[in-house]
Order: sequence, then C-alpha cells, then structure tokens
Amino acid sequence: MLRYFIWTIGCQMNKAESQQIAGYLDSAGYQAATSFSHADLVVLNTCVVRQSAENKVLGTLSLLKGLKAKHPDLQILVTGCFVNSHTQELQRRFPHVDLLFKPGDYPELIAWAQQQDMPIEQRLLRYPRNDAGMALSPCALIPITQGCDNFCSYCIVPYRRGREVSRPLEEIVCEVEELVRRGVKEVTLLGQNVDSYGHDLPGHPGLADLLGKLSSIDDLARIRFLTNHPKDMSLKLIEAMASLNKVCEHLELPVQSGDNDILKAMRRGYTVERYRELVHTVRSKIPHISLSTDIIVGFPGETEEQFEHSLSLVQEMRFDVIHVAAYSPRPGTIAWREYQDNIPAEVKKGRLNKIEELQTAIASEINSQLQGKEVEVLVEGKKKGKWFGRTRSNKLVFFEDAGGWLGHLAIIQIEKTSPWSLGGHVENN
Ligand code: SAM
Ligand code: SF4
Repeated sequence: MLRYFIWTIGCQMNKAESQQIAGYLDSAGYQAATSFSHADLVVLNTCVVRQSAENKVLGTLSLLKGLKAKHPDLQILVTGCFVNSHTQELQRRFPHVDLLFKPGDYPELIAWAQQQDMPIEQRLLRYPRNDAGMALSPCALIPITQGCDNFCSYCIVPYRRGREVSRPLEEIVCEVEELVRRGVKEVTLLGQNVDSYGHDLPGHPGLADLLGKLSSIDDLARIRFLTNHPKDMSLKLIEAMASLNKVCEHLELPVQSGDNDILKAMRRGYTVERYRELVHTVRSKIPHISLSTDIIVGFPGETEEQFEHSLSLVQEMRFDVIHVAAYSPRPGTIAWREYQDNIPAEVKKGRLNKIEELQTAIASEINSQLQGKEVEVLVEGKKKGKWFGRTRSNKLVFFEDAGGWLGHLAIIQIEKTSPWSLGGHVENN
C-alpha cells in the first residue's frame, strides 16, 4: 500500500486545498501517513505571506532533499503560494521536486498523476479531516472564490493566486449537500474577500444569496465564512446574517491598522471612521457577534503615534481575537517597490507585543463573562483525552466525557475561562 503525507502551513484556504488533494490521493488508492519518513509521496502546501513562512518552506525543501537522496523513489509535490509563475526556474533551483503546481490547479495534479499511471478520480473530491488528518470531520472548509483583485500594497496573495474567480453557486450547493449526506454539520465558506463573491458570475449572485440557499439544507447545522473586507461588506449581508439562524455570530473583519494614512498606504480602501461605523452596524443588528481582526505593525514609515492609533482602536473595539503580524516586505508587491522597510525589527517586535498584551487582557475579560453560562459546542474531535469543539461564536471549548460526541452538538456549562479557550462539563447527557 502506497502512502502520502501532506505538509500544510498558512491559511484556511491551504487547509481546504490540502483536504481536496488528500481526496484525490485517496481515490488513487494511497493511504495517509503520519510523517514524511513513512510516505512514498509527499505534498508541501506552502505559504509565503511573510518571510518567516517562506523560510519554513525552504527549510522543509532542504530536509526533503536529504530524504530523497536516501529514498530516490520518494515523490515530492509542491503547491501553495510558494509556486510562482516561473515554475521552470523553481524546478531548476529544486531539482528533487517532481511536480510544482499553482494553488488550486488540480488539472495539473491530475495530468501528472495520469502520467505516473496513478488511477486518480477526476471529479471534485473533498474529504473533511480532523486535525490528525484521518477521520471524517463534522466541519468542512469550502472555497467559494479563488484569487484576489484587491492588491493591498503589502500582500503577495494576488500575485500567487491570481485574479478573483467565483465558483458557481449551484456547484457549491451540490458539494455542501453531498458533504452533509456524509455527515458534515458545519461549513466554512472561504475566499480572500467573500464580500465580492459572485461579481463575475452570470446574474451576479452574492454571498447573501448563497447563505440563503445553504440555509435550506436540512441537516446542515452551522454556516460560517471568511474573510470579509471592510470596504465591501454590505448591509444586505449583515441582514442575511441576522435573519438566517444557521449563520454563526462570528466575523473575521481585518482592519490592518488604526491610522488613516497607513490604511491609505496599504491601499485598503476604507478609513478608520468607516470601519468603526461598520462594526457599529454589525453589533446593532447582531448583538452577540464575535469579531476577529488582523493587524500589521511596523508598516513602512509607521510612526509611534500612528502605531498608538492602532493600539487605541484595539482598546475601543474590544475584538474577541486579533492576529497580529510584523510587516514583512514581499518582493514584487507595491509596498516593496515603493517604500523602504524602515522600522527596525526590535521596534516591530515591541509593537507586536504591546498589541498582544492588550488583547490578552481584553479577551480574558470577554471570555470570563461566559463563566457559569451554557454554550452550544459542535464537537470536532479529541485532544489529550478531552473532547473539543467550537461555539457558534468560534470559541474553543474543551470538556471531558465518556460518551461519543464526535459530530454532535453538546451543551456545555462553562467552568473555566482563559483568553484562548474555555472548559466545562456536558449538560445534555
Ligand atoms: N484576505 C484577507 C484580508 O483582506 O485581510 C487576509 C489574507 S492575508 C493572506 C492574511 C493576513 O496576513 C493579512 O490579514 C495580513 O494581516 C497578513 N499579511 C499579509 N501580508 C503581510 C505582510 N507582507 N507582512 C505582514 N503581514 C502580512
Ligand atoms: Fe491580500 Fe488584500 Fe487580497 Fe486580503 S484583500 S488577500 S490582504 S490583497
């Protein structure tokens, strides 16, 4: 029996694409392995959003060079945002790689598999997996768009994933129906900017229309989506979220900076005032919404005062979760061409720590309000003897119980809270 191992870093889109690649390899009769050293075929699903991620990819490629020297039959496939348009040049730099294919370019993968006489299935296959990569998970990640048209000045994604293309609405609905038949209870719809879903499709359906259609699938319990873009999020979508009860009260709404001049240099297309107004509308229509955001610190030229504007926005907004990153220049992007990366690394680190410290205190306070309350958790699996899953508001919850909870909705009474997760016991035994 031949075995494969998929190494995935980066965003949810990469995770979704790895699940699809796993589906294709399963169809060819391969079995999942637990590490590189147990595999006959490895796939690296890569990220280069920051230099630190790219360094991990380069390190793993060099590790695999050694492995291939010992096992010349090992097949190495590389996909994700590391794969640029110059695949021939990459192939020259990494001759031990058997195939480089762009993110989502499954026809390329299938053509290669056919050349190797691998009996791969060609229809769309996606097998949701749990964190261990094995059993069917009740939560599925569903890409609804590929690529991005925004060209934020710091971001490499549009150069690696291309212009935005939406999947037809009917195709997504069919896929979700099929997954629900196989036991999936929750779907997360993925796109770099889900608010522009459908602009390129006949009749221009929007995300609100897609949510309406998916809501009528009987055994589907929950729907989520990410990422929203503050410049494009519409009132129609907010109202659809408020009225469709399968749509979870959670939004990923990256602000990136609390300073208008930095937002302009980032080419984000909104101001702090517009962002504040949007959050106000969302909170007034969906009172228990939980909000996540992304912030970049140390963008070129960011003064201490401009950074303080981000810090005070964090204080004011009281986000549930913040992903904070130090600016990393990405060759080819607008910011890389036009601005000098002139904020010293230790200043970036200091700013990152300040945001994280403040956010830890805020998240700790927000989560402590759940102490003693009952929450509904969709159980995704077990870690170190404890069941885990998420609330509708995307809070991670752990509990111990002898029952079989995988894929079930458990009512948990919260006994312990921290900035990162909650713990409690089952009430609906
Ligand atoms: N499409 C989403 C959006 O509009 O924010 C997110 C996609 S991006 C791949 C994920 C996050 O990585 C961004 O929100 C941003 O905070 C961070 N990021 C992207 N490019 C970066 C860079 N050059 N340096 C540091 N962080 C970066
Ligand atoms: Fe990158 Fe901006 Fe597109 Fe997000 S919206 S993927 S940050 S270019």
